[in-house]
Amino acid sequence: MNQFSYVRPTSLKAAIEAVAKNNARFIAGGTNLLDLMKNGVIISDKLVDINRLPLKDIQLDNGVLHIGSLVLNSDLAEHELVKTHHPLLSQALLAGASQQLRNMATVGGNMMQRTRCSYYYDTTMPCNKRSPNSGCGALGGINRMHAIFGANDNCIAVHPSDMCVALAALDATVLVSGPKGDRHIPFTDFHRLPGNTPQLDNNLGKNELITAVEIPANNFTKNVYYLKVRDRASYAFALVSVAAALDIRDGVIQQARLAMGGVAHKPWRLPDAEKALTGKAPTVENFRIAANIATQSAKTYKHNAFKTALATNSIQTALLKATTV
Ligand code: SF4
Repeated sequence: MNQFSYVRPTSLKAAIEAVAKNNARFIAGGTNLLDLMKNGVIISDKLVDINRLPLKDIQLDNGVLHIGSLVLNSDLAEHELVKTHHPLLSQALLAGASQQLRNMATVGGNMMQRTRCSYYYDTTMPCNKRSPNSGCGALGGINRMHAIFGANDNCIAVHPSDMCVALAALDATVLVSGPKGDRHIPFTDFHRLPGNTPQLDNNLGKNELITAVEIPANNFTKNVYYLKVRDRASYAFALVSVAAALDIRDGVIQQARLAMGGVAHKPWRLPDAEKALTGKAPTVENFRIAANIATQSAKTYKHNAFKTALATNSIQTALLKATTV
């Protein structure tokens, strides 16, 4: 690992100023960043430790749940307000990583984690995300874990988070602060597709810091389910995951929210499937129709063709589970 300096500011202003100098980065839990630095994937001259900033609050205000970006994943998953108002988020958090990692990982860090594409971590291999215009090792390599939606030949990596899939489904908003002030970003616009800039994972501006995430009030407190399909029962990234939330009244789906993980460069929302479910009865047949609509545009690569059927079946299963809890 290269040598770097380390500072621990106590105010937001000082943190933003500190990260503007040298090749600096913010660090909170460090559960991904330190691995990347140790492997030489990311080289930084300076780490700005933000753990002393006052960003650890969880509050309900007029129905909006405000979650500070330094809240630990484990604390958030078990928080009474989350379990009561947004159980889908709690389920997704508990599906991620391990208890030890959740005890260190923060909300902001979870959003900022990099893909787990093995070619990105192998500095002897080409990777447009690590080294722009060097090529994509996964394209002609082992791409079993890779994307089936929204990818192109520049990068077929997937975003690894579970938490972010639930936040995308729940129409969350990201609050950020930077040298030019504060701004809000819809969660579904926070992460990016690879396009021509696969090195960029998100739409954060230069030296901006995530300060909080907010979830609006909703009726998704009962019929929700986070399904994660993976190669082993715990401590593994998703082959495919589904966040399903239904608002069912009088036997009719009033609103539906669906998002997937493990299938795209960002949490992948399924608006056409949501539309197909709205106003319908929560039946197996309607779930099958919605799932087929959701996966119509899938494009697969040499080793991940199985993901299309897996995604279709997982959407149906998640919807069924959401209606039988
Ligand atoms: Fe790099 Fe993306 Fe290709 Fe993986 S899929 S090797 S992250 S460019």
